[in-house]
Amino acid sequence: MELPFAESWKIKMVEPIRKSTREQREKWLKEAHYNVFQLKSEQVYIDCITDSGTGSMSDRQWAAMMMGDESYAGASSFFRLKDTITRITGFEYVIPTHQGRAAENVLFSHLVTAGSVVPGNSHFDTTKGHIESRKATALDCTIDEAKDTQLEIPFKGNVDPKKLEKALAEHADKVPFVIVTITNNTAGGQPVSMQNLREVRAIADKYKKRVILDSARFAENAYFIKTREKGYENKTIKEIVKEMFSLADGMTMSAKKDGIVNMGGFIATRHEDWYEGAKRFCIPFEGYLTYGGMNGRDMDALAVGLDENTEFENLETRIKQVEYLAKRLDEFGIPYQRPAGGHAIFVDASRILTEIPKEEFPAQTLTVELYLEAGIRGCEIGYILADRDPVTRENRFGGLDLLRLCIPRRVYTNNHMDVIAVALKNVFDRRNQIKRGVKIVWEAELMRHFTVQLERL
Ligand SMILES: *Cc1c(COP(=O)(O)O)cnc(C)c1O
Repeated sequence: MELPFAESWKIKMVEPIRKSTREQREKWLKEAHYNVFQLKSEQVYIDCITDSGTGSMSDRQWAAMMMGDESYAGASSFFRLKDTITRITGFEYVIPTHQGRAAENVLFSHLVTAGSVVPGNSHFDTTKGHIESRKATALDCTIDEAKDTQLEIPFKGNVDPKKLEKALAEHADKVPFVIVTITNNTAGGQPVSMQNLREVRAIADKYKKRVILDSARFAENAYFIKTREKGYENKTIKEIVKEMFSLADGMTMSAKKDGIVNMGGFIATRHEDWYEGAKRFCIPFEGYLTYGGMNGRDMDALAVGLDENTEFENLETRIKQVEYLAKRLDEFGIPYQRPAGGHAIFVDASRILTEIPKEEFPAQTLTVELYLEAGIRGCEIGYILADRDPVTRENRFGGLDLLRLCIPRRVYTNNHMDVIAVALKNVFDRRNQIKRGVKIVWEAELMRHFTVQLERL
């Protein structure tokens, strides 16, 4: 008999988590104005609000922290991090930052100006924010197939080469770079193929443009290339990663994802002019060049995290866990965005709470119901997150309305996945009794989802 799959690690330290009663959760959620961001973490049993900065570090990472060099300038921790990044990506110039959006802020301060057009696959919110706040345009050139939640294709995060070519033909002189997000977070953690990265490179070369990889989940992307793309079956993750970055000019990185640290980020590039340009902004925004917002010990933990998470076994354990949860949802017939992405499951609330009108926010209602059912905290990626149209101030109901269940790295076991799946099934089974949603009683003008106050109808 073939041995079943199991995690590529064992557990050395544990953190207790606590269940609660439905009565307690009713009270807590009411106090939180039906916004799960306003809950205290101890009111949560299984926390799937994000996979960002919520992973468990390994014994090697904790050990590396003890080697942290906290020198203001020239810390050996920086050089260990830099050498690791150069070895893994091939990029020679490295600037640490306190997280991913800070890397964007520093690099884009050098590259993006009013009127710039930045094409790519779906830009992440902060990436888009750092482009739009500079009065520039983020042009989404993702393949159309990404919008169909039920279509199963292996690389649903890809850039559409025709859209990219058109964007470059129309705006060539306004384009400072092309940005490709790996994996495509906004499209549901969907990967981008090597073939697609090669096509993007060729089009960019034709127009003499550089390419940035927004690399928060670059290692997960490499796992999907190894397991789904012809010709890569026998390559190591590190070989695939090297090849991915060989097709780019630089990267911005949120180390809170595939770096498996709780805080951190960096910029890396092969071009001295980008490095020189970004340097000028790192110092005032982040700090001196050899720490850029990070502790020495955190740079050491990140160096080890990058090394560990570009090994197949670690990635396989993670992605198989997300797939495991997806399979459980399949058993119960619960619709989610297909195929399951690398870091999360996006449950299609509009196909479940069909009695609830858009104006009553079905995905937020499902988020509320799942928390009340079992203390599981997901996150609405839907109409509340979409904010209002800046001109008409109407709610934007054009996109998808999803409940995102993010899986932190190396934190939960498949028993927790079973609890999530069954809790969601229980809500799913009584979906026809859920006829009313929620109403906004207070909201901020921008990024309202973090602080919005709601009432149940
Ligand atoms: C998280 C993320 C960022 C921003 O990084 P932070 O560390 O949260 O600032 C940028 N791009 C992508 C694709 C991300 O997932």
